[in-house]
Amino acid sequence: MRRVIVPAAFVLVSLLPAAPATAAPPQKVPVAEGYGGAVATVDLDASKAAISVLKKGGNAVDAAVAAGAVLGVTEPYSAGLTGGGFMVYYDAKKRKVFTIDGRETAPRAMTSTSLEGIPFDEGVTSGLSAGVPGTLANWDLALREFGTLSLKQALQPAIEVASKGFVVDQTFHDQTASNAARFKDFTSTAALYLPNGAPPPVGSRFRNPELAATYRELGRRGPGWLYGGRLGQEVVATVKRPPVTPGSTRNVRPGLMELSDLRAYRALLRQPAKVSYKGMDVYGMAPPSSGGSTVGEALNILESLPEVGLHEYLEASRLAYADRGKYVGDLPGVPLAELLSDGFAKERACLIGDRAMPNPAPPGDPDGAYGPCAQPTGTATPVADEGPETTHMVVADRWGNVIAYNLTIESTGGNGIVVPGRGVLLNNELTDFTFGPAPGDPNLPGPGKRPRSSMAPTLVFDDGRPVLAAGTPGGSTIITTVLQILLNRYEFGMDLPEALAAPRATQRNTAETQAEPAFLAAHGAELEARGHRFAPNPEIGAATALEILGRGRVQAVAEPVRRGGGSAMVVSGK
Ligand code: GLU
Repeated sequence: MRRVIVPAAFVLVSLLPAAPATAAPPQKVPVAEGYGGAVATVDLDASKAAISVLKKGGNAVDAAVAAGAVLGVTEPYSAGLTGGGFMVYYDAKKRKVFTIDGRETAPRAMTSTSLEGIPFDEGVTSGLSAGVPGTLANWDLALREFGTLSLKQALQPAIEVASKGFVVDQTFHDQTASNAARFKDFTSTAALYLPNGAPPPVGSRFRNPELAATYRELGRRGPGWLYGGRLGQEVVATVKRPPVTPGSTRNVRPGLMELSDLRAYRALLRQPAKVSYKGMDVYGMAPPSSGGSTVGEALNILESLPEVGLHEYLEASRLAYADRGKYVGDLPGVPLAELLSDGFAKERACLIGDRAMPNPAPPGDPDGAYGPCAQPTGTATPVADEGPETTHMVVADRWGNVIAYNLTIESTGGNGIVVPGRGVLLNNELTDFTFGPAPGDPNLPGPGKRPRSSMAPTLVFDDGRPVLAAGTPGGSTIITTVLQILLNRYEFGMDLPEALAAPRATQRNTAETQAEPAFLAAHGAELEARGHRFAPNPEIGAATALEILGRGRVQAVAEPVRRGGGSAMVVSGK
């Protein structure tokens, strides 16, 4: 959500010559450099919450949870405690990278055919697509393992923002408006997000007292209130009997979630996915996300090529996507080590020639036996389009801890259903499963299974020390955006702000590469001459990143333009 920080009336006054310059409220800036800790999010209130936690002595994990809870208020269509996400965290004292999998799970009653034949759009707005929420358990586990604040303390900034409200900006307004047709079909959602029957006007103050009360109660009662307690009962009731507005003709499929599914939910500490790249170590999220494995495989492929340009970027990405589709999901036996091995990368890299390869590229064979230039014979899995709705943040603290954190409720507005009286939207993350029929697809639904994600919070290390953190929203384009940022920074000579601002293209083993207009203008003709075909995409991703410049100095970077621009801040500029 983009906030209008300055009410219109104030803008008028401040344009007058006599207006006191010091009265201007702080604006979002996309780049900040300094000491004592740093943050980049999409939202000024979330970044401010993180900085205030860091200033009071909290660490990066405390700040990330506090900022995540604020995003649940100000970016409620992308993030919330009833969603899911992934954290990649470097603990400076332990000198170790930890990852937390807070991905939603399918209820235990869900089978490989539960979504079969359901039109995708019908799945999007349904109880059936609501996964067992992971975000609250993720926050709780992160704070207990690595934080210094209690959940109650970490929720305080969000309680304040939810109670006092925030000023509606164009993006929040537009996101509400584009959801209005389905929001009005649920009494609870219409009451909260369509006050007076319409999206809140730009410049108005939006309060969510019910969410403030939910956060307060969570602080008092702890996560068990959701995972088996009263709030959990209400979530289950909402999923099973969505509060459909009388007279609505929408076919709203009920969900399969039971209180026992909530009781059984666990956020999990997982081994990171790791590759070496140009002498650095790159850590990402292992399955059920395909982020770490796909970014990592593409980097390995590129490393084994004699030269790396945009053609090679697109081709490596195409190949890595072919392997993602065939091998990665939340199931035993994902050949992660082989997918990330140098031998496999070499075998894949030698398929890259001067011209774009035919579409689709078949998956390779990560079997441990790699010959020179084996021609793969498998069948490519089609890549489903995913929307651009998640959010991502990075935080570093004064002790050298660094976190990259992606959180989401899947579609913009999740499944469109607010839990009555609780001020929070449910996720529709289970639409990330392959609906089927698709025999052998690793991403078919199953009891307790986590849908495959593309989220790719990423940390880069040089000589054992963290140097960079990056991530973005964007569904399946997340992977290519993270990859492109890393290449911009480490291959194409850009600094980090340039690496984020540069125009993007995304090749996901599809006939056409989607590309932003500026990318097409700068590189389209040259790449088309090598056989690439393009389709325009007005905007890809909304990244945040940071670079550790040494001697405690950190540069935090957000988007200058995309999604209205993000907010980078540091604890101290000097
Ligand atoms: N559901 C997506 C994923 O986990 C993230 C949401 C998005 O950015 O579209 O990959």
